[in-house]
Amino acid sequence: MARAWHLMSRPQGMPTAENFALKDIAPELGDGMVRVKNSFVSVDPYMRGRMNDVKSYVPPFAIDAPMEGGAVGEVIESRAAGFAVGDKVMHMLGWRDEAVVPAAALNKLPELGVPIEDFLGNLGLTGGTAYFGLFDAASAKPGDVVFVSAAGGAVGSAVVQIAKARGMTVIGSAGGPEKCEFVKSLGADKVIDYKAGSLVKQLGEAAPNGIDVYFDNVGGDHLDAAFAHANKDARFAICGMIANYNKGEPTCFRFIMRIIAMRIRVQGFIYTDYAAQFPKFYEEMGGWIAAGKVKSRDTIVDGLEQQPEAFMGLFTGKNTGKMLVRL
Ligand code: NAP
Repeated sequence: MARAWHLMSRPQGMPTAENFALKDIAPELGDGMVRVKNSFVSVDPYMRGRMNDVKSYVPPFAIDAPMEGGAVGEVIESRAAGFAVGDKVMHMLGWRDEAVVPAAALNKLPELGVPIEDFLGNLGLTGGTAYFGLFDAASAKPGDVVFVSAAGGAVGSAVVQIAKARGMTVIGSAGGPEKCEFVKSLGADKVIDYKAGSLVKQLGEAAPNGIDVYFDNVGGDHLDAAFAHANKDARFAICGMIANYNKGEPTCFRFIMRIIAMRIRVQGFIYTDYAAQFPKFYEEMGGWIAAGKVKSRDTIVDGLEQQPEAFMGLFTGKNTGKMLVRL
């Protein structure tokens, strides 16, 4: 029997195990559908937003229904033209071991000679977010000084590496000495441990001539420090604000008025906006991976039973690189 994690109640603050339940499901294979055995399912910070009953760019998860999320796996049964048993695919019916997916919602994975799980990381949502956020939302170019937060995580570690591949100076922030060491190993020029003291002070020391680009994964104090040290015409790609996802109250920004004096461009963006440009992304990112300029580091948790725990670990920094659940 297939199983799927259901959201049983909406978290107040940090999610707990009581918000989730693993239940049997029996999805029927209709015409035009494919049955997939998932091999890796993703946990991502944005899923926290879908647990709230608010209007956003994706609908909230329904209560007592299977949750959704990125997944990769192999076709085990097909009633859809163009898909055969054994095909490797990616889709959005994660949080479960087996998925029945309409063909229109399936992506057949290109043959790039990389492990299948990379399509949930550097060749998937997180790598693509880094790529389009950095080069489009922030219009980053060679010579820029780039500051990126959560630099030891999935999106952040990709930002560090592709910014270096394009000739930028990179300052990454992460929590704790071990994660900072990892960020340094990715090629970052300077690393800030945000748990070790004032961010405004540390960023000032790391970027004595200011920053041209800020890639925001965290919000809060990180965003405020970036305002404090932004150069004229700086560009901020607002990717995520994980520091706020479990908090109700807004952040107080001491340096926000510098947006005016420094003519800072602040641009929010969503990965799926760039769907038409995915082939270009696969080509360039695939090239960097093949050339060894972008490396994947995953934190892998084994077993569907562990998925809520893996998800909650994102908010306490349990992952280095991409957090994945292997089935
Ligand atoms: P991730 O960075 O792999 O994991 C989250 C990391 O955030 C943790 O490992 C932790 O690292 C850090 N963190 C957690 N709470 C924090 C806090 N209060 N202050 C500072 N750092 C904190 O996750 P990801 O998947 O790559 O996502 C990164 C960001 O991108 C998230 O904000 C996510 O929502 C966003 N995102 C946006 C899009 C889009 O389309 N706009 C797409 C994907 C992801 P430390 O150990 O360093 O604290």
